[in-house]
Amino acid sequence: MSKNWYPIIDLDLCTGCLACVSFCTHNVYEVKDGKPYVANPDNCVEFCRGCQKGACSFEAIQYFGEN
Ligand code: SF4
Ligand code: SF4
Repeated sequence: MSKNWYPIIDLDLCTGCLACVSFCTHNVYEVKDGKPYVANPDNCVEFCRGCQKGACSFEAIQYFGEN
């Protein structure tokens, strides 16, 4: 079964503040070249928008599966 909900980072908008990495307790993100990288999309909780709403101030997080 393929995962149908996980974050997609817009690296043009992302400032590399890494607030999303600190915020998520599910080990979805890793850091690569100073920017967040969605290393474990299967760990993302379906319909959670925690990092989008609670961490990112730059509108850099969208979700695969939200449309
Ligand atoms: S949406 Fe929720 S579970 Fe998914 S990466 Fe963000 S904080 Fe973690
Ligand atoms: S919180 Fe937003 S701006 Fe900061 S690292 Fe994550 S995606 Fe980038």
